[in-house]
Amino acid sequence: MFVSLYGPLWYYYLLDISTFVILIPALLFSLIASAAVNRTYSKYQKVSAASGMTGAEVARKILSDAGVTGVSVVPCRGKLTDNFNPKTGVLSLSEGVFSSSSVAAIGIAAHEAGHAIQHAKGYLPLMLRTALYPAVKIGSYLALPLAIVGILIEWLSGIGSFGTVLLAVGIIAYSLSSVFSLITLPVELNASARAKRLTMQTGALTGEEASMASKVLSSAALTYVASLAVSITYLLRFLLILSRLRRRN
Ligand SMILES: [Zn+2]
Repeated sequence: MFVSLYGPLWYYYLLDISTFVILIPALLFSLIASAAVNRTYSKYQKVSAASGMTGAEVARKILSDAGVTGVSVVPCRGKLTDNFNPKTGVLSLSEGVFSSSSVAAIGIAAHEAGHAIQHAKGYLPLMLRTALYPAVKIGSYLALPLAIVGILIEWLSGIGSFGTVLLAVGIIAYSLSSVFSLITLPVELNASARAKRLTMQTGALTGEEASMASKVLSSAALTYVASLAVSITYLLRFLLILSRLRRRN
């Protein structure tokens, strides 16, 4: 599950170059992490599991062994677009995962089944994450317009604190997405830990194969760490701008 919360920031870059610099390490980290996930995925996509089970078969077996009912496992388009939707109970597996018997495919399918089990068992971080999602979505739409209008008002008027208040509200709205990224980490790490254990339990992967699948899932987890880093540095950037405006007033 990946949600992009950063939006079209380019117009804001024009307004403030000096604090843009602090974003660079996190953005680089983000690029490196997504390159790593692509690299490990294509590497272990070429390794066939001895069991010969497909991603879809593994997901279904894990769910039935765990006694989780009401989840449908369906194919979806795209690469690495695999996800579990807690609202609809649909577990979607991408083209390279659904009918593939590669170690990478089985690992990813088991990871998504892990999310379905988290949902069925009421795993707290997942419940929090799902509950927070609507507020995060609204917050991420409002954050940048509020912040930008706030900064513009400050610059144009040069006096008063209305712009600063708008910017502060924008920052609070934005911070929701950082909290969301933070809660995503235990959810993802837990699903991957379940995947490693369950693929061995179901006989889908041998211990050695499960370690390879784990590498794919760990590099995917790194992209969530990168998202958190990016989110926090954006937040930091806004806070720097806010403190500068307050000092000027
Ligand atoms: Zn996941």
